[in-house]
Amino acid sequence: MSLKRDFYVRMSLILTLSAIIIISVVIRKQRELLLEDMRDKGESIARVLSTVTMDSMLTYDYGTMERYVRQVAENKDIVFLKIIRSDGEVLAEAKGTNNNKNIFLSVYPIAVGGSTLGSVEVSFSMERVDAISRKIIISAIAFILIVHAIGLAVNNAIVNSLVLRPISALIETTRRIKEGGLKDSTASGSRGEFGELATAFNDMAASLDRNFEALERSGKEVQTAKNKLEAIVQSLADGLFVSNSDGLIVSFNRAAEDISGYTEHEALGLHCEEVFKTRLCADACALHNEDKTIRNKETGIITKDGRRRLVSVSSAIIRDSDGKSIGGVQTFRDITDEKQRQVMLCQSEKLAAIGQMSAGLAHEINNPLGNILGYARLLLKDDALTSGQREKIGIIAEQAKKGSGVVQGLLDYSRQSGAVREAVAVNRVIEDIIRLLQPQAEKSGTKIIPALGELPDIHADPKQIEQVIFNLAMNAMHAIGRDGTIRIETANTAAGKVEIRVNDTGTGIPEEIQGRIFDPFFTTKPVGKGTGLGLSVCLGIIKDHGGSIDVESSIGEGATFIVRLPAGEERHG
Ligand code: ADP
Repeated sequence: MSLKRDFYVRMSLILTLSAIIIISVVIRKQRELLLEDMRDKGESIARVLSTVTMDSMLTYDYGTMERYVRQVAENKDIVFLKIIRSDGEVLAEAKGTNNNKNIFLSVYPIAVGGSTLGSVEVSFSMERVDAISRKIIISAIAFILIVHAIGLAVNNAIVNSLVLRPISALIETTRRIKEGGLKDSTASGSRGEFGELATAFNDMAASLDRNFEALERSGKEVQTAKNKLEAIVQSLADGLFVSNSDGLIVSFNRAAEDISGYTEHEALGLHCEEVFKTRLCADACALHNEDKTIRNKETGIITKDGRRRLVSVSSAIIRDSDGKSIGGVQTFRDITDEKQRQVMLCQSEKLAAIGQMSAGLAHEINNPLGNILGYARLLLKDDALTSGQREKIGIIAEQAKKGSGVVQGLLDYSRQSGAVREAVAVNRVIEDIIRLLQPQAEKSGTKIIPALGELPDIHADPKQIEQVIFNLAMNAMHAIGRDGTIRIETANTAAGKVEIRVNDTGTGIPEEIQGRIFDPFFTTKPVGKGTGLGLSVCLGIIKDHGGSIDVESSIGEGATFIVRLPAGEERHG
């Protein structure tokens, strides 16, 4: 309902209600006056009638009484007239000319000297009273209608000038503000409350304008700060990701993309664990470690292409202005290569120290061992020896030879045994070794399968290369025990290297010891069976030749040792 109509309806209701109340009071008063008048009139008629009919009553002259009654009944307001004796008998009665059903009855006594002879009953027609009431109602309705018409016009004029016009002006100003013109949007003033409203509105618009300017300024400052932060985040060499309070990633920088292999688009909205697939979140994410400061915590991630990388993570909680935690920021650095270098450095230092010590020891032990072996062999030539003595001296010679083998290993390890360099055909070396191992392999049900590719010669010490391949093949046979396969492959790689792969179907090497099998004296074999020098000697020889040696293995699935050596005439060491 419009304001105008609402205003009018309310005004009309008030008017109508007050008119109804006034009219009913007026009609009531008017009727009371008319009835009073009628009662007076009836009383005077009764008085006259009682005077004129008294004689007739006393003389029983009912004819005269009847005549009087008829004459009086001719009054146009009287409906009927009766004279009743005190015993209730009607002595005379007459009907008036008025037949109205709505009557007003007046009864008056006929008394003489204190005794009542009877009564006069006069019924007046209410016609006149009703007619006057009707007239009053019609006049009142006409009055209400006229007042309504005037009210409507006045209402229109008042509502228009006092309410609607100022409101339209305010609406127009609001529309201009909505379209962005805060400065030139001033509400036009009017008097009274709307004037005050317009002033308040203008003040509000001016204050809004000031606030908007301040807001715009701080918006620009925030944007600049955001750009700076974005530039810093993106230029960081370390990976960075921000997670919200649910642990979902909301920011992922370029270095994080490089390390993890996921694009920012792929990582956003995912949970930290879905991207890194490791304990990184539990170990180092700020949200999981709210009470602790995480600095350079070493943990792992698995990249998109499935590689395991070692990372160093630092993290911090992000809090809102009330100090409530709303997320965490994590930076991480790929330290896999660094760690590997550290391990290798450590290993080379360890190897160098052991090498020096071994070389010194080997020289000291070699001479006495040589003497023991020499004398034992000399004694064995004596025919006078009993078989028991011969056996015991044989054991001495054998053990001295074994000891000498270990010493040779130590010398090899420290590479003090003098190396030569010449063109070596690796495939031929392998074929010789297979021939040498074949009888032993057949005994243990092991198949040795060569898969030899076309190779260039390498520049190497043939004895040492032979020793490496022999060691690897022997280790493979030990790992197999009974019934298995050793596959020896060679290939000329695109990188100009000669690659030798020794693969077996043996026990495999547990992941946790793979980093230690090249250490000198590391062995899992029982005492007397292994020296733990085989692989460290192999590593030393291959390094001396400018090559590398790697292992791939998992428990129960055998092992593959991969040796890569530079092809051609290169000289090393
Ligand atoms: P040794 O053979 O005297 O123990 P090595 O240095 O040759 O010394 O080997 C070190 C260790 O490496 C072995 O004890 C063994 O645990 C492990 N190893 C070497 N080659 C293999 C292989 N092919 N399969 C399983 N384990 C191996």
